[in-house]
Formats: sequence, C-alpha cells, structure tokens
Amino acid sequence: MTKLVIANFKMNGSKDFIESWIQDFFLEQESANDVVVALPSPYLIIFNDRGLTLSGQNVSNEESGAFTSQLSAQMLKDCGAKYCLIGHSEARQFLKEKNEVIKQKFDQLIQESIKPILCIGEPLQIKEAAKTIDYLSEQLDLIDSDEEDVIVAYEPIWSIGTGLMPEIEDIQMAVDSIRSKFHKTVKVLYGGSVNSSNAQSITDKTDIDGLLVGGASLNPKEFGKIAQLC
Ligand code: PEP
Repeated sequence: MTKLVIANFKMNGSKDFIESWIQDFFLEQESANDVVVALPSPYLIIFNDRGLTLSGQNVSNEESGAFTSQLSAQMLKDCGAKYCLIGHSEARQFLKEKNEVIKQKFDQLIQESIKPILCIGEPLQIKEAAKTIDYLSEQLDLIDSDEEDVIVAYEPIWSIGTGLMPEIEDIQMAVDSIRSKFHKTVKVLYGGSVNSSNAQSITDKTDIDGLLVGGASLNPKEFGKIAQLC
C-alpha cells in the first residue's frame, strides 16, 4: 500500500539549499509513495508550484488577530500547505505547547481543509517506566475518537535526532494502541532517526502507514532512497 513519507526540514536550509534539494530530489525520485515536505514557513510560498506537496511545521491556535509572530491556518493554506505538523516534541519543549492548545491548532487546520499531522511520543523516563502506551493514550485524548482521516506521527522523543530506535515490536505496539483510540480511519507514521538503512525494515516489519523523517531528509538522495524503500 502507498505510504506517506514526510520530510521535516525543521529550521534548516536556505533558498539556495532548497532550490538545489528540489533538483537533486527529482533527479533521484522514483517512489510510488506520497511524499510531503515540511519546509520552514517562508519557503512554502517560494516553492509552491514546484511539484512538491507542502506541509507547514506549526500553526497558530487562533484564527486571526493580535498574535504577533504567529501564522494562521488560512495563511498556510494561501502558501500552498496541504498538511501541517502539530504537537511536534520540539514545539512542545521549546514553545511550551500543551495538549489544549494543540487541539485548537487541530481544529484551525481542519477548518481550512489542511490535514493535521499530530505528533506524539514519550520521553525516555516514560519508556523506562514502561508507561509508553498510557502516555500516548493521554496525548491522543484531545482528538475525538470519531474523527475521520486522522494522521498521527509516533515519534519517541528519545529517538529524535539520536540514532536510537525502538524495537520493532515496540513500534507495532504503539501503532496498535494509537489505532485502537479511533473508530474511523487513522494513518499512523513512525518518526525518529529514520534513514535509508532502517526505513525498509520499519515499514516491512510493522503495518505503519508511513514515515516522518527529520535529519536524513536534508539530503535529497538519502530522502529519495527512503521514499523509494518504504
Ligand atoms: C523529527 O524531528 O520529526 C524527526 C523525525 O527527526 P529525526 O529523523 O532527525 O530523528
């Protein structure tokens, strides 16, 4: 089945970098999977209409108004974003985002027909205390269990950018527990130190619907390989 493979550039790149990334990516790209690129916001508008499906990396929980520094869902839509990450652990950590606000972001995106990609995942101490499933369940409580076409990215915080990966069985257990929270269709992605050496094994050995790729996505050839392999 077609997988959803998302590149998360985080706060990396420049206009020139992304220009050459796009050229190299399309040289290599033969994937039948759905590829999405979460660019830093200013580049969405610049690289709209270049054949990429674009995602925002965050959105305001407010519709409009006196919220200096924030971007509304409508603005993201105007820039061509079809998807948007919300609840990424880096936003939870550095912007102190809490579940209630993340839920409001989810609703703002739905209102503008942008697909939210809700990122969830446990810190190391929760994993070590064998409380991952409860922790994920609590993070998902914000979404109505009757919501349709939900996309959840399971990203263990201790795995992001560290080269550490959960056991395959632990990924599958998390996927099952996420699916069990919803009555309707839900796509579950895995993110955390994905590269071209482990992508295929993650997608072959679990019934995951796709991958969210941070660091490795900055290399267009590596990301192209991941998109092809999974
Ligand atoms: C991420 O931050 O969404 C991520 C998956 O990062 P990395 O692939 O670098 O672990």
